[in-house]
Amino acid sequence: MRFGAHVSIAGGLEKAIERGLEIGADCLQIFVAAPQRWLEVRHSDAAVQRFKEARTSAGIGPILVHGPYLINLASANPDLRRRSVEALVSQLSWTDRLEAMGLVFHVGSFGEEAREIGMQRAVDCLREILERAEGRAPLLLETTAGGGNSIGGRFEDLAELIERLDGTPRLQVCLDTCHVFAAGYPFTTPEEISATLAEFDRHIGLDRLTALHLNDSQGKLGSKRDRHANIGDGFIRREGFHAIVNHPLLRHLPGFLEVPGLDGSGPDAENIRRLRGLCDG
Ligand SMILES: [Zn+2]
Ligand SMILES: [Zn+2]
Repeated sequence: MRFGAHVSIAGGLEKAIERGLEIGADCLQIFVAAPQRWLEVRHSDAAVQRFKEARTSAGIGPILVHGPYLINLASANPDLRRRSVEALVSQLSWTDRLEAMGLVFHVGSFGEEAREIGMQRAVDCLREILERAEGRAPLLLETTAGGGNSIGGRFEDLAELIERLDGTPRLQVCLDTCHVFAAGYPFTTPEEISATLAEFDRHIGLDRLTALHLNDSQGKLGSKRDRHANIGDGFIRREGFHAIVNHPLLRHLPGFLEVPGLDGSGPDAENIRRLRGLCDG
């Protein structure tokens, strides 16, 4: 498995590559703009060029772009849905421009409203995004911990969105180990992982699974808590990650850490070292 991490682009896109090298990452996930604000993404052609050159000379890849946290395609608020669509259309084109593997995001939550209404809104938004975004980069729908009526806590949610968009190949899935576990899918032994992936395959199809987020979970199985822990320090435990990184259906995927880090400043060399130490080779 290729191990990478979410890193900051503060100071310029190419700084992400430096940060990746510092922690020993094979692959990287980045935001292309501040994730808590609706800002237009701006990077000069020269900055994009420096990023690509740094990536090539570092041998780091693939790159995964993470969408803003504010996105909610199922919101009852039309303004929020509009901003979400605009941000994803724009960031998909940046994903292509940066030659990244895709744009991962949380679909959103239908809140207090009926699920069917929320799902219809998400379908409409996704259709518009895919129609307007030229280029080839896929959207990666992320599995969620399932709290707060979020879409993606059950594989059926994502399967339904993909099916209602006619199975377009531009919709793929990123499985977050903390989220699936917190959502109630056992994921800590080879047998449990095989059973959970069989369920994923039945609903979504394993060919859609193109990236992993590797996070331990501060919440127990089924807690619906989206709280990431450092590798081995949560309820998935060291043994769980041993099973994950060596699983024959997962080993070929890029895995991106989004853990707090030992000093609380984000994914670090120690978490990557822990994962590498668990690989049977
Ligand atoms: Zn994640
Ligand atoms: Zn999370």
